[in-house]
Amino acid sequence: MSGTALVRQTVVDLCVELSLRGYLAGTGGNIALRIDAERIAVTPSATDYLTMTAADVCVLRLADLAPLEGTKPPSVETGLHARVLHARPDVQCSIHTHQPIASACALLGQPLEVPDGPWRQSLGRSVPVVGYAPSGTSWLVARLARSLRPDTHAWLMLNHGVLCCGPSPEAAVQAVEDLETLACMHLRQRIAARAEVDATADPAQRDVFAWLDAELADAIHLATKNRPAP
Ligand SMILES: [Zn+2]
Repeated sequence: MSGTALVRQTVVDLCVELSLRGYLAGTGGNIALRIDAERIAVTPSATDYLTMTAADVCVLRLADLAPLEGTKPPSVETGLHARVLHARPDVQCSIHTHQPIASACALLGQPLEVPDGPWRQSLGRSVPVVGYAPSGTSWLVARLARSLRPDTHAWLMLNHGVLCCGPSPEAAVQAVEDLETLACMHLRQRIAARAEVDATADPAQRDVFAWLDAELADAIHLATKNRPAP
């Protein structure tokens, strides 16, 4: 198997792994993997990741995204991945997901601080918010570009999903997983803090808070419970 074929198969394997863990669903989300200094492999657009083959994976020139191998159109978020891989030579793999809990945090529009410990290595010191722009637009790429830092490995994309990267496919998957756990912790803390506010709120507000928190707690419970074991 040639070097390119191996990388394309690695993209397929990553998509299957992330789908089985509940981070990619259907055709949502996408992945890019650096082949060498000039070329990247990217998931094709609108393809079910559980039936995709290595031949479906697109090989593109990083400099101008010219197609080199593959017959399917590349993911609409190719520009997003290429911007990260171009700006960060240390990054080998870039993953965009609509993973359930971190995407809920992406709706809140607040950056996540990363506590001391191993998460700092996979995620960096904080997970910034990239302002909203429609999928697949140069506007979204420009917004991400403003948030690129050498020590930032994950981003919340407002009202959309997340982007994670790493120096290897394993590190990028670890960032996806750690971000989901951090997001879950953050939402649980929000619910606990809201419960304290509840105690002093007027009864009408208290009912609304209780209802919202119960809904959020149910969503976290379901998302956590339904994810298959790694
Ligand atoms: Zn998306």
